[in-house]
Amino acid sequence: MSSKMQAAQISKPGGQWELVEREIPEPKTGQVRVKVEACGICHSDSLVKDGIWPGLQYPRVPGHEIAGSIDALGDNVTDWQRGQRVGVGWHGGHCFVCEQCRRGDFAMCLKRKVTGLDFDGGYAEYMIAPATALAAIPDELPAKEAGPFMCAGVTVFNALRNSGARSGDVVAIHGIGGLGHLGVQYARQMGFETVAINRGKDKEPLARKLGAHHYIDATAQDVVVELQKIGGASVILATAPNAQAISGLVDGLAPSGKLLVPAAPAEPLTISAFSLIMKRSSVAGWYSGTARDSQDTLEFSALSGVHPMIEKYPLDRVADAYEQMHSGRVRFRVVLTFD
Ligand SMILES: [Zn+2]
Ligand SMILES: [Zn+2]
Repeated sequence: MSSKMQAAQISKPGGQWELVEREIPEPKTGQVRVKVEACGICHSDSLVKDGIWPGLQYPRVPGHEIAGSIDALGDNVTDWQRGQRVGVGWHGGHCFVCEQCRRGDFAMCLKRKVTGLDFDGGYAEYMIAPATALAAIPDELPAKEAGPFMCAGVTVFNALRNSGARSGDVVAIHGIGGLGHLGVQYARQMGFETVAINRGKDKEPLARKLGAHHYIDATAQDVVVELQKIGGASVILATAPNAQAISGLVDGLAPSGKLLVPAAPAEPLTISAFSLIMKRSSVAGWYSGTARDSQDTLEFSALSGVHPMIEKYPLDRVADAYEQMHSGRVRFRVVLTFD
């Protein structure tokens, strides 16, 4: 095997994409080497590109929607085998010893690592991951679909399944994009009365095809009025990072409803406490999940027929792929593939 690999890196905040040849890295104790087959491009990769992640070391290879197979094992890696198909997502491992880990809340580890930020990610032919960051990929899921489940997928799946909503409850997905098109599918498959909210009419046929029982055009209809017509939403998952639009959703909640925010708008939310009090409603952030949560996402997706809609690009077109992701034209996830 050649000892070199292709990788796409950013070498300074605001820098351009650089295609470089690097040594294929060796896994250390507790780590594996993953031969990357696909890596989704996430909006959060801009944290590397634009240098807005505190303490980020450059050069950095981004990418945390990785699907591939284990190519080499470091020492002390048990229960994972060479050749096994695995995904690596946002959760890049945890310490096992901090206060949160002692309580079993690994996603909230005080020393948690993020793939593609704290260590090099999947915009490369090979990457090194801690075994604690691995999710097994079901046989029937192709790598190009498994990749986007490792961040976009687990974020919305895990948010919805922990939201407290019960079968039959009204659950609204705000924004039909990279996260939202998966959110609609999960909400439907979890047995919720599913509402898709987006600007304009053009995504209505698709939203309905993905499983939405209702569609609200936020440009032509009053979202709050429409949600209240069906009793208000037990949960609204706000996937479009627009502070003003998200803030306006609170009054669409049912009593004790919850507005969940898994993607950060640049501006602060402006929310009336009076609205929250009168309906005993709440606004909460949602943070991704652990590697096992990601594996649950992969398994549930395979079981229930949830699919990401993707556009594929080879690694040497990374600049175009990244641009397409940020253009808003993409439907709905861009995936770098290595075949
Ligand atoms: Zn992401
Ligand atoms: Zn910890």
